[in-house]
Amino acid sequence: MNEFFDPEWGSATLGVRAAEPRTGNREHSASVSLTSSYVFGSAAQAAAVFSGNEPGFIYSRFTNPTTEAFEKRLAAMEGGESCVATASGMAAVMTMCLALLKQGDHIVSSRGLFGSTINLFGNILTKFGITISFVDQTDVAAWEAAVQPNTKLLFAETPTNPLVELVDIAALADIAHRHGALLAVDNCFLTPVLQQPLKLGADLVIHSATKYIDGQGRCVGGAIVGDAQRVGKNVFGFMRTAGPCMSPFNAWVFLKGLETLAVRMKAHCENAHGLAEWLSEQPTVARVHYPGLVTHPQHELARHQQSGFGAVVAFEVEGGRDAAWRVVDSTRLISITANLGDTRTTITHPATTTHGRISAEARAQAGIGEGLLRVAVGLEDLKDLTADLARGLTL
Ligand SMILES: *Cc1c(COP(=O)(O)O)cnc(C)c1O
Repeated sequence: MNEFFDPEWGSATLGVRAAEPRTGNREHSASVSLTSSYVFGSAAQAAAVFSGNEPGFIYSRFTNPTTEAFEKRLAAMEGGESCVATASGMAAVMTMCLALLKQGDHIVSSRGLFGSTINLFGNILTKFGITISFVDQTDVAAWEAAVQPNTKLLFAETPTNPLVELVDIAALADIAHRHGALLAVDNCFLTPVLQQPLKLGADLVIHSATKYIDGQGRCVGGAIVGDAQRVGKNVFGFMRTAGPCMSPFNAWVFLKGLETLAVRMKAHCENAHGLAEWLSEQPTVARVHYPGLVTHPQHELARHQQSGFGAVVAFEVEGGRDAAWRVVDSTRLISITANLGDTRTTITHPATTTHGRISAEARAQAGIGEGLLRVAVGLEDLKDLTADLARGLTL
């Protein structure tokens, strides 16, 4: 490993240059280390490495050079001391909770979370005696009001899916710390290129590497970033024993993904901003949700909390479900799928897909109407994306 890097480098430089893995063969591009275990020269060396007295790889459930390079590079980009890579984004949320919480603890989080995270908090962790309060994403006072004496974690996603609502990370960090709790932020939508929650006071960052870090829709993975004690020791210790680890092959794909992340995020944001502006001018579009538009209620917060506005745009068409489905069904280029963070633009009708299984009442409360569509903007030419959407909007 080329250990030299300067934490003051920009995120593009860190993405390319931090923690370059290198073997004795002096390869320039990272090689992938596909081995489940490592051999020792003697019984004494095996004992020394197992006991931690001598550094070295043991077994790829918890130590692998390719996975370690990905962890070190992502930690550098987020400004964190330690990172543990996981099998998926959901494995990252689960691992963080099981490593750092215990029976009797309480979590406060927004109602606007990724669906599987809501399910994990509301239906699975509760089986182990961890309780949860869900609050309105944008209402910082509601977060504080929900804190109980046993609250140990505030968990936020910003911006949310699909309505791209923000929450003030520094304000939540302040609430968490005044009440002896931790703040974790799922930074999947923006990546460290556009937002660095640890620098705003968060204690932990969660990633689904499946999205922009891969960026081309190939591998599933995740990560937890934070300080050396909580992540480097406690989360790592849980991983060593419980094993929801990232495959070294996937770590190699994500490591290479980090090299182009800054340039891709810039292109994603430019396309999304252009699409949001174009949608705002369409007569059959009632409302566009994009933090980069001055009409977004939290545009100012987005400007100072983020260094770009992201690539997810939601919009409401006149005419409810029929009109929305017509836009979806008139596309020829955009993929009809709920995935995001891909080179390919995707479109989804949240009310009948990602949010289809919650009650109509809960959907209405979450602001997800029948005319709402979500586009995760990819890297195609903007003119081809607008032409593809224009067909269904002007019928
Ligand atoms: C996709 C996603 C996850 C879950 O990640 P997986 O890699 O699919 O397990 C968590 N949070 C957000 C915001 C996501 O978009």
